[in-house]
Amino acid sequence: MTSLGTESNPLRVAIIGSGPAAFYAVEALQKQTGLVAQIDMFDRLPTPYGLVRYGVAPDHQKIKSVTKLYEKLATNPRFRFFGNVEFGKHVTVADLRQYYHQILYATGAQSDRRMGIPGEDLNSSHPATEFVAWYNGHPDYRDCKFDLSCERAAVVGVGNVAIDVARILSRTPKELQATDMADYAIEALRNSKVKEVYLLGRRGPAQAAFTNPEVKELAEMEDADVFTLPNEVQLDELSQAEIAHDPDPLIQKKVEMLQSYAQHQPSGKARRFYIRFLVSPTELVSDGNNHVTRMHLVHNTLVKSETGTLSAQATDKTEDIDVGLVFRSVGYRGLPLPDVPFHERWAVILNEGGRVINPDTKQPRVGEYTSGWIKRGPSGVIGTNKPDSVETVNAMMADLQKGSVLSPEHPEVDYAEEFVSSRQPKYVTFADWLKIDKLEVENGAKLGRPRVKITSVEEMLKVVGK
Ligand code: NAP
Repeated sequence: MTSLGTESNPLRVAIIGSGPAAFYAVEALQKQTGLVAQIDMFDRLPTPYGLVRYGVAPDHQKIKSVTKLYEKLATNPRFRFFGNVEFGKHVTVADLRQYYHQILYATGAQSDRRMGIPGEDLNSSHPATEFVAWYNGHPDYRDCKFDLSCERAAVVGVGNVAIDVARILSRTPKELQATDMADYAIEALRNSKVKEVYLLGRRGPAQAAFTNPEVKELAEMEDADVFTLPNEVQLDELSQAEIAHDPDPLIQKKVEMLQSYAQHQPSGKARRFYIRFLVSPTELVSDGNNHVTRMHLVHNTLVKSETGTLSAQATDKTEDIDVGLVFRSVGYRGLPLPDVPFHERWAVILNEGGRVINPDTKQPRVGEYTSGWIKRGPSGVIGTNKPDSVETVNAMMADLQKGSVLSPEHPEVDYAEEFVSSRQPKYVTFADWLKIDKLEVENGAKLGRPRVKITSVEEMLKVVGK
């Protein structure tokens, strides 16, 4: 038999997930000199691109242009997309082992971390991830309801997701109308009564996770003023010492911008956006109808932890803020996949450099790999997934060299398609997706918008005649 990875005997690869990590793995595989790999990508939704479509803020359209590269990769004749096919429901690991030599899990982080405080589950307290998925038109979240009838909202956490959420709450209908935000969300936000948004960081400005372009952008909002409090943006001694010891121009610039916001005077804009530091929520208080009406906060001070990082320590100073809506934005969290080893505490697939590890033997599971957030945790920007996926593909290639791959009974490409079709006749191909994409963009163009998203799976299937 000819060697694996050649024209007559292509390497068969299944990729679960279709976000950035999945596509950078495709790119790395397609770049291998002399390798013939036939790649099938699965997604439980009919649409590809994962968080680029359903996570990136709608007022950050430029970031979404990475999909041009992904689209180019997908037009390779040795690539197929099987959308609307759910791993664990329509296809299992055991099934895939019958058709592929290698399986790569790139399912991202589909849940969120909790704050662990009383009142967190009151009706108007939500994970930020839900709000993000809702305004981005994710089919699973289109029916979510957020009570925007209050005047004050708080977002807990000072990462890029938190700042996205707080900014979207502060945008005008005109600003939102220029985006690809779901129509129902634009409508709901048009009627929003929220006038003040608090972004709450437990540590200081030098430790804030959000990045500089996001901080700068806040000063450019059409009808919202941004403020910080002078005493909260002055660096404490420990932060000053840290910066003096290890100067980072990006952090210095960020602190400067945040300090400049403390000098802002109200300019008459309708909304106010406060970034607070050194505060932690300790309880969300109900109005008696299971609705948040107030948040108890404790003020923090920074202390040096055993690892040398500066962490927040509660003082005895407390404060209450009246808020009717709360979003926790303290990090995404990966979810386990059926029959795939998972590290509960780290919320990632158990792996070493992308090779999935058997928890009992501590040895790699032959032919199984992972990349992206479900491999390393929810950190970094879209581009961070590129080297991450390259590392995994390098491991896949090294194992192929050693002959350490699965031995599928039916490696022929047609068999896999027949099998998928038998489990999910309504699978969506990449050509189908391009039809959905075209319609969305055409409908957007009529209104001067980037696209009008179709947000129901049923409607998407109707567009492609399934
Ligand atoms: P993140 O960057 O890890 O930020 C999480 C934030 O939550 C931090 O401020 C963290 O504070 C805080 N936090 C954690 N536990 C907390 C607690 N118990 N109480 C209060 N605060 C708590 O996560 P993310 O914002 O979800 O973003 C995920 C990744 O996606 C990041 O790498 C981000 O840069 C990226 N992203 C990028 C963009 C963009 O490029 N525009 C947009 C969205 C997301 P501590 O630092 O004190 O732990």
